This record gives sequence, structure tokens and C-alpha cells, in this order.
Amino acid sequence: MPGVADRTSLSIEATYDVDVEISVGTGEIAVQTVIGLRNESGGPIDRVELNAIAARLGRMTISGTTVDGLAVTASVDDQTITVPLGGILPDGASTNLELTYRATLKDDLANSDWLFSRAGGTIAMYRWIPWISRAIPFDRPNFGDPFETSSSPRVQVRVTTDSPMVLASPGSRPTVEGLITTFEVTNVRDVAIVLAPDFVETTGTVDGVEVRSYTRPGGLEPARVMAQAERALSGIAGQLEVPYPWATFTIAETAGGYGMESPEAIWLPRQTLRGNLAYLIHHETAHQWFYGLVGNDQQAEPFADEAAADFVARTVLGTLRGSRCVVAPLDRAITRYSASCYYEVVYIQGGEVLDAIRRHMGDAAFWAALRGYLEDHRFGIGGTRALLQSLVDGSTVDLGPILRARFPSLFGS
Ligand SMILES: [Zn+2]
Repeated sequence: MPGVADRTSLSIEATYDVDVEISVGTGEIAVQTVIGLRNESGGPIDRVELNAIAARLGRMTISGTTVDGLAVTASVDDQTITVPLGGILPDGASTNLELTYRATLKDDLANSDWLFSRAGGTIAMYRWIPWISRAIPFDRPNFGDPFETSSSPRVQVRVTTDSPMVLASPGSRPTVEGLITTFEVTNVRDVAIVLAPDFVETTGTVDGVEVRSYTRPGGLEPARVMAQAERALSGIAGQLEVPYPWATFTIAETAGGYGMESPEAIWLPRQTLRGNLAYLIHHETAHQWFYGLVGNDQQAEPFADEAAADFVARTVLGTLRGSRCVVAPLDRAITRYSASCYYEVVYIQGGEVLDAIRRHMGDAAFWAALRGYLEDHRFGIGGTRALLQSLVDGSTVDLGPILRARFPSLFGS
């Protein structure tokens, strides 16, 4: 409809049909995506803001954008593609958006480049499908995740390469026909993929969940990876009393960078030390609940995903510990923590605070409240305030002093 709303929203239900062609030799990719979207935001919108780190890291060029078959002009700024809808889309209305882009994968693993790279014998693509989001700055002084994305009920992906590669993907077991691999995922807020010519697939089953690990010769040991993944899945689901949300779980070895979570999948760097493998797999697996099942603004509220995931992982492993950095507020955006203390404050002090709350509330009330948070925001967006409010609501003791001290912007006077 004609008109101006000057508004977008994360409350847009979107399905994605995605085709990607990857030139293994050059790292050039061509992506064509059709987004079927329905405005569920309660008011009109006139643009969507799509997140893709290809826009920031991959020298993206957009070759065409249409809305309902009519050409519109998309603009790229930082990691956000803004697409005007050519009018307003009223609440409850649907449209189709088609967007085609080209980009080039980074040929190194430095800084954030490993997230979107062709290096070390592996192609790794994180946040590459332009996805319903909002404009969020990519830059941060640490390895925090600068993303917030809405969960999609269905994503279909077709990957074509120009030489034989094995694809590590989330969701249904991929169908391979020559150089074309297809798969489908449901209820995910991202689709991360890794490819290598020499990936070795190892499979297992935990509580009905199909686990697939992809490792390369000379890298991570598949038996150890599978054993820890099985231990993490059953241990975390048991502690939370919330089943793992999907039917499959994929673990992919990457050439570098950090451990990383994505819905139904985790990435583990090839260099992960044997002594750190159990922790890293438990931490990334815990994100399947805190980030995958219940999302949050990871850039503005890292406590909700990082502290919660790390606390649950360390609780299951029995490795909660004290922090090596000075006590700092836990209600800050990732941009406000230094590289040297981001982990020690948000993950470690965040876990300490959650454990202190657990002791105050008692185990039964604490875990029931945490479960309530996960159930209330299932495949939606939660956050630090919602998580802490669930604990307050489930507590018979006053959590005020702890919350005021550590979350002054949320619980200060
Ligand atoms: Zn994490």
C-alpha cells in the first residue's frame, strides 16, 4: 500500500529459500534468497533491515532486489542491508522479497574474518543469509556476538560448489546430487555452514537426537568430540529439564577463530586443546537453549546468552570458578567490555551471580524459574531483564540487593 511508516520490526515472520553458488578456488559466492515475510508487529512497516556479515566482511554487491516483483533499491551500511518495501506493509499483511548478492570470502582467519572465510582448507560461512534483524554495529573491542535475529519457521538452502566438498549443515540430513547439496531447517534464527573437501562424518544418537560431527584428518578427534557432545546434550537437557529443541545437532571443525554457536550446530576450531574440548562443547551446546531456543539482543545484552550458557555448562561440568577481572556491571553492551575482561566479567562473573541467585532461591525454585523463562520465550526473543524477572517472580527471597548491585540500569533505584 502507498504510504510512509518510517518503521521496521523484528516481529516479522519470515521464511527463506536460499541458493548459494560457491567458487571454491576463488572464494566468490553468489547468493539468491527469496524471503516470504509477514508483518506481525502490530503496526505498519515500510522497510526491513537484514543482517549479513557478508555486507561487512565480504565486499558485498547487491545485484537486484524486488518486493512483490517490483524493483526496489536496497542500501548497505556496516552489516545491515536496508530494503524499502516501496510503500507500507500493514500489520498482518505478507509480501515476497527477493535479493541477490555477490561477495568474496576472506582468505584469512584474523580478527572476525574466520566467520566468513575460505582459509586453512575450510570454507566457513556465518550470518551469510540476509536475515530479518535491525541495524546493529558490527564493531566491538572483543569477540562478542553483534547480532539479534528472529526465528524462522522454515529455511531451505541449496549449496552449489564448483568442486567436490562435504557440507556440514544444520537440520535435515543434506541431499547430495553431484555438486549440489540441499537441506531444510525449521525454527532457527540463523543457518551457519562449513565446507571442506576432506570432512569425515561421524554420527551418533542421544535421546532421539541425531548428532553429526564433521572433522578433518589431523584435526579434532571424532570419538572425543562425539563423546563430549553426547554428554553435553543429555547433561544440559537434564539439568534444565527442557528437551533439546530439534531433531539433529551438527558439530563442525573450523580452521580457526573461536568456538561458535548457531541453531542446531556448533563450530569448534581445529586448534582446540584436548583439555579444553569438554568445556567448549558444553558452552556452545548450552547456547542451543540460551540463544537458539530463546534469542536475545546479543550485542546489547550479552548476559542473557553468554552468562546463562556458561553458567549451565559449568554447572553440568562442575567447573564454576571465580573471576580474574575486577567486578563490573553485567548489564552492558558488548562494546563496553575490554577484550581482556569481556570473558571474565560477562561469562565468569555472570555465572557467579546466577549461582549466587541459585543458592538464595534454592535449587527447585531457581531451576523452575529458568525453565519458565525458556518456555515463555520459546523460539522468540528474551533478554536480560526477562530472564532476571523470571527469577524474581519465582523467588520467595529478596533478590533485590544482588540485582541492584550488578544490573544497575535494570534494577537500580
Ligand atoms: Zn558463548
